[in-house]
Amino acid sequence: MDFSLSDNSREVLERVSDFCEREVLPRNREMIQAFKVEANFDPALLTPLRARARSLGLWNFAMTELDDGVAGYPLSNLDYAPVAEYLGRILWSSKVFNCQWPDVPNMVALQQCATPEQKAVWLRPLLDGDCHSAFAMTEPEVASSDATNIATRIERDGDCYVVSGTKWYISGSAHPQCRFYMVLGISNPEASANRRHSVVMVPRNAEGVTIGPRSTFFGFTEPAGPAHALRFDNVRVPVGNRIGGEGDGFRVAQARLAPARLHHCMRAVGQCELLIELMLQRAAERRTFGRAVIDYDTLQGWIALSRVQVEQIRLLTWKTAWLVDTRGSQGAFRDLAILKVAVVQAYRAIADRAVQVFGAMGGNDISPVSESYAWSRAFAIADGPDEVHLRTIFNREAIPASTIANSPYMPGPDLLFRTSAGGGIPE
Ligand SMILES: Cc1cc2nc3c(=O)[nH]c(=O)nc-3n(C[C@H](O)[C@H](O)[C@H](O)COP(=O)(O)OP(=O)(O)OC[C@H]3O[C@@H](n4cnc5c(N)ncnc54)[C@H](O)[C@@H]3O)c2cc1C
Repeated sequence: MDFSLSDNSREVLERVSDFCEREVLPRNREMIQAFKVEANFDPALLTPLRARARSLGLWNFAMTELDDGVAGYPLSNLDYAPVAEYLGRILWSSKVFNCQWPDVPNMVALQQCATPEQKAVWLRPLLDGDCHSAFAMTEPEVASSDATNIATRIERDGDCYVVSGTKWYISGSAHPQCRFYMVLGISNPEASANRRHSVVMVPRNAEGVTIGPRSTFFGFTEPAGPAHALRFDNVRVPVGNRIGGEGDGFRVAQARLAPARLHHCMRAVGQCELLIELMLQRAAERRTFGRAVIDYDTLQGWIALSRVQVEQIRLLTWKTAWLVDTRGSQGAFRDLAILKVAVVQAYRAIADRAVQVFGAMGGNDISPVSESYAWSRAFAIADGPDEVHLRTIFNREAIPASTIANSPYMPGPDLLFRTSAGGGIPE
């Protein structure tokens, strides 16, 4: 087994980290001011940064393939993993290279499921970085971790579909550059549970679309731009806006799944690395009872344990990326679930330690530590709650057909019921 980076991966990582050191990190404080203080989710400084990255070919490398004529440098998932980890340290930096969530999973779904005409209308502008998009599935009225519950109606009426329903927690849906929503709803109520739903593209400016209140998580706003509630009141879209066939809604949603889950995990490894670095800095600087905080065994143990966990999840992330590359996302379905649960557990534990090491500053809403803590918590719910993933994992465990009594790994009944005379437990 060879764990070294491929030439492609190393080259992109070096170029991206070099670009970030020179152009992105020095602007991070400006971005914090814009995002967190001014609630400006599309600051002017992003446009020239994106243009510069694109002109250098540092563009669209979260995609595994690109059609001829599309700008970018596609990478395999395995090659992208170290790059995404690096970008995970500064959550907005993925945008500079057009590698941001939720656009990338939407682009992958459109690439796999849309017709050439649809790709020209919806996919190409995203790949060119001309706009953003959102994926609208979750609804306040139903338990949305079971997607068969989704109740928004997509009803056929002549050459149109009429979309009616309410969504919430739709990331990036009110971003100034967000131009359309991929909406999951019921189109064929009489079909079997897995064939009832379809996905239609709804332009943000369509008549009947209302952007509702912000859906924050512990008051935080996502790097994609805030999540919002959306209402669709008899919104009419042409039949040609349906992606895939009628009843293919979950196939389209599944196409998003691997890049969404995998890339979140890659970035979370980067967040964990950053948290270790920040813990070390902070604990080395603060002194209590005559010693630097870093000199306490407790702190050293926390940091060492965090290192153990980061090493574990990084390897698992690489392995899962390789599985998705070699078997496809369906072939790696269980492994993606395992990865998601493992990363959430490590990320939550490390973020919790970081909050403690930072003291009151760890809970201050302007600090990266509190933001990371909030996202680590959200990650246990978003992208499918961990409990649903654990069910997926358990359901693929095979219960052995033979009984315990017949298992050759277990002692036979004669040994189990030995008397003390035979060397068993004395009475
Ligand atoms: C920050 C953030 C961003 C999001 N962005 C988007 C977005 O862009 N688009 C979008 O459509 N949605 C988005 N969501 C919504 C997210 O996908 C849903 O919150 C998630 O699918 C869970 O659905 P729910 O909130 O309805 O919880 P419910 O389905 O009500 O589940 C609540 C709890 O029930 C338990 N549970 C559920 N099923 C099982 C089970 N099988 N076994 C054991 N326990 C179970 C779990 O503990 C679960 O947390 C986002 C959420 C967050 C927090």
